[in-house]
Amino acid sequence: MPKGPDLATRVRQVRERLARAAEAAGRQPADVRLIGVTKTHSPATARAAVAAGVEELGENRVQELAAKMPLVDGARWHLVGNLQRNKVKQVVGHAVLVHSLDRRSLADTLSRQASELGVVQRVLVQVNVGGDPAKHGCGMDEALDLVAYARDLPHLTVEGLMTIPPLPGPGAPPAEAARPHFAALRHLRDDAKARFPEVVHLSMGMSADLEAAVAEGATMVRIGTALFGPRAAGPWRPQEVGT
Ligand SMILES: *Cc1c(COP(=O)(O)O)cnc(C)c1O
Repeated sequence: MPKGPDLATRVRQVRERLARAAEAAGRQPADVRLIGVTKTHSPATARAAVAAGVEELGENRVQELAAKMPLVDGARWHLVGNLQRNKVKQVVGHAVLVHSLDRRSLADTLSRQASELGVVQRVLVQVNVGGDPAKHGCGMDEALDLVAYARDLPHLTVEGLMTIPPLPGPGAPPAEAARPHFAALRHLRDDAKARFPEVVHLSMGMSADLEAAVAEGATMVRIGTALFGPRAAGPWRPQEVGT
């Protein structure tokens, strides 16, 4: 664990930020789910998060997710990063929610694997709201078609949309820079929900911009640094450190 406040204190601080942001927006704090993003951190840290009441955990790499999942009792895991089709087997039936559906071919593979396991996989469609070439996600103009396509597959359910806004320019306050992107995702979600009522969730907001995300209607925020401190340079690997 990093120096500074202990994890329980950080969890309390993040929950207070979420509660204040929810109240300022006239929303219920309970309507915003906290997902602790444990990438690069050890399973021991993930277990400590669960012990501190953060049971929903997220990873952005499949390999790291698969390595950590069996070592952390009581967690519900989210895949928040890019998913390649050849890694779908490690995810379907294990992750409660895949936040990164961004193309039809991936939807097909996810549904096929879910069908083999006899499960329905819950997913979010990831949208590249900023049109940032460095980011994954379908385009704004493709999102509704992808939602419609994926929800028609027998073993997928599309429960909402996810985005990662572009990095703010140098010196720009992250929350203000992100806010119009969060608003755009919310409008898109509203359009999708008008056609498909199960499309309710908005996964948006990270450590630096969670207030703006909650103000724009986030139902899930993905928080790493504010809970777990700075990240290691690379992914956590089982052989490197004790668990
Ligand atoms: C790392 C990561 C986060 C958490 O970012 P912080 O700024 O550390 O809170 C959220 N979402 C995704 C997709 C990530 O990869």
